[in-house]
Formats: sequence, structure tokens, C-alpha cells
Amino acid sequence: MFREPLLASAPLRVVERTTDVATRAPSQPSRTFDAFGRHIHYLRISLTDRCNLRCVYCMPEQVVFRPNEELLTDEELFTILRVMSRLGFDKFRLTGGEPTVRPGLVEIVRAIAELPTTREIAMTTNGLKLARLAAPLKAAGLSRVNISIDSLDPHKFKRITRWGNLHDVLEGIAAAERVGLTPIKLNAVVIRGFNEDDVVPLAALTLEHDWQVRFIEVMPFADVAAFQQAAIVTTQEMMARIEAALGPLEIENGGKLDGEARLYRLPGARGVIGFISPVTAPFCASCNRVRLTADGTLRLCLLKDGEVDLKTPLRRGAREDDLEAIIREAIWLKPWGHDLAEGVIPMNRIMSEIGG
Ligand code: SAM
Ligand code: SF4
Repeated sequence: MFREPLLASAPLRVVERTTDVATRAPSQPSRTFDAFGRHIHYLRISLTDRCNLRCVYCMPEQVVFRPNEELLTDEELFTILRVMSRLGFDKFRLTGGEPTVRPGLVEIVRAIAELPTTREIAMTTNGLKLARLAAPLKAAGLSRVNISIDSLDPHKFKRITRWGNLHDVLEGIAAAERVGLTPIKLNAVVIRGFNEDDVVPLAALTLEHDWQVRFIEVMPFADVAAFQQAAIVTTQEMMARIEAALGPLEIENGGKLDGEARLYRLPGARGVIGFISPVTAPFCASCNRVRLTADGTLRLCLLKDGEVDLKTPLRRGAREDDLEAIIREAIWLKPWGHDLAEGVIPMNRIMSEIGG
């Protein structure tokens, strides 16, 4: 049995461990729970730490990426995914870095679609390469996309992303909608001094389009944390700006979170507006996910450094049963939530290495 030390500090074990693996019928996948009774069945997979943009809130312009040999190969990734499926994982999100720069992306989507438990495969992308990739990704089994777009002004868009061309993203959104990668969700991180005014034109997109436009509070990570903490715009301020310009926001979905977003609708709007508030209103109680980094660690909480190395045991010959035991134990130790309010900031990775 291959076992690497768990870096996460162990939370109190408040519920009885669920090991339905012993009692299930052979063909039935298990369900996996953490020590707080949360059913963990959603895997976010960072396919690469590389990106074709350099967003100011995500990475420094002179970022150094990991050497290729440190990243999981397709075969290693597929082995881990088969194990996640055995553990009952049914929702997968591809992210990065920028997932569309990973060679073989379409094949990876097809492999996930073929897992027996898969119900949904989503992808978070900057959209630059979607115009060309939307159709083959849809054909391979991708369900839908979240596309990042922080401004509708080409100059501001370039300033935020450092290298980006807004036109390419708009074409990517159109292609995604055309091939049915829907419902379309747009993500905007709101940064003081860069795009706090842009929440209004972005929110106004929902008047005409059946889209979900989501505004995200910027989170602090490692070397970029000082900038991120100075630049945060709270959900409360975003809402006030939108209501002042476009009218009252009516709560949707009975106030229930859609993933991590709380949803609202402008009067008469076709689409909805979501607010993701990890800093001012953490949603840890409903967390159902873990993350696989491109270099093969299982990250148990986005905003905590605790990770479990899967690549080393895999490269030393661990079998799927061994990996299943390691992952089950790791998930049991998933921390309750983050400690941003206490000033504890994740330090071992920046956002592009985790994937959001
Ligand atoms: N490259 C893809 C993209 O930009 O959509 C996927 C990876 S990116 C890390 C995933 C999401 O995280 C994007 O919506 C991005 O805007 C968001 N993001 C990046 N850095 C962030 C930060 N410090 N705080 C909050 N969200 C962030
Ligand atoms: Fe790249 Fe996405 Fe980070 Fe922007 S947010 S630099 S697109 S990984």
C-alpha cells in the first residue's frame, strides 16, 4: 500500500466514516464522504499550469511554468480518473492554467465521457481558442463551458489580461452557444482600478441573453496576494453598482446556491447574474469538490495548502486499489473550510496552478 504523508491538518471526525465500498454490488460505484458528512463527487482537473494570457489577478507576467515531466501524462491522468469514477465522482470540470492549450484535450474529454459515472463535464476557459475547439469538444462529450471575460471594453480587457484580444473571446462565446455548450456561464473577476465599472455592462448582457454572468471576488494566493487583497471589490459593492444603474436584483432559485454562485435577476432579464463571494460569504458548508493539479496532487480545499501527492505513488507502481485507498483517506481529511477571515492565505500555489 502506497501512502504519502497527508499535509492537511486533520479536522475533527464528526460523523461515522462511510465505507460503503464493502457493501456495494461489484458494478456499483461507491459514494465518498468527508468527515463532516459532505458527499464529495465533483473533481476539478487542472490540465496544465500554462496559459496563453497573463491576467493581472492570476499570475505574474514573468511566471515560470513547471517542466513537462512534472505534469501528469494522459495515461496517468486516465488512471486517476478511473479511480475517481470508482469513488462515485460524477461531475468533472477541466481547467488550468488554460485547458485549451493542453495537447490532446478532445481525447481527454472523450475519455471522461466514457467513465461509467460521468453525468457532466464542464470546462472553464478564457475562450481564446473556443471558436475552433467548441464543435469537436461538444462532439467528444463536453457538456458546457464557463468563459472568463472581465470587461467588454477591448482596451480594459487587454490591460487586465496583459495579452488578450476581446474579439477572440466574443467569437469563442458565439461558437460555444452555436454548438450547444449551454447554459453559457461567463466569469468576471472584479478588480479595483481595472474593471469595477464594468460590472454594469457585463450584467446588462443578461437583459438580452439567456446567460449566467457571474462576478467573482478576487482571492489571495502566494506571491500575488498583496495585489489581490488591495484590489478586492466586495459582492456588496458590485450589487450596489448594478442596482444603481439597472434596477433591483431579484433573488433567484429561492436563494439556494448554484454551485458557488448566488443568483439574481434584473427586471425582465432573460439571463441571471451570479455572485461568487469566497471572501465575504464563504460557501464551505455546501462544498462537494476536490481538485487535481496538473502535477498530480489532490488539493482538498482551494484556499488551503493541504494536498496529497498522487503522482509519486503512481510512478512507483501503485495499483488502482492503492490509489483508491489514498484518495478515500485524503477526502475524509478534507478541511471544513478556509481561514481567510483569520488572515491565513494559501501560499504553496498561485491560482493558475490550481484552476479555480
Ligand atoms: N484559464 C481559464 C480561465 O481563465 O477561465 C481557467 C483557469 S482560471 C485560474 C479559472 C477561473 O479563476 C477564471 O474564471 C479566473 O478568472 C478565476 N481567477 C483567477 N485568479 C483568481 C483569483 N485570484 N481570485 C478569484 N478568481 C480568480
Ligand atoms: Fe490564464 Fe485563466 Fe489565469 Fe487568466 S485567469 S492568466 S486566462 S489561467
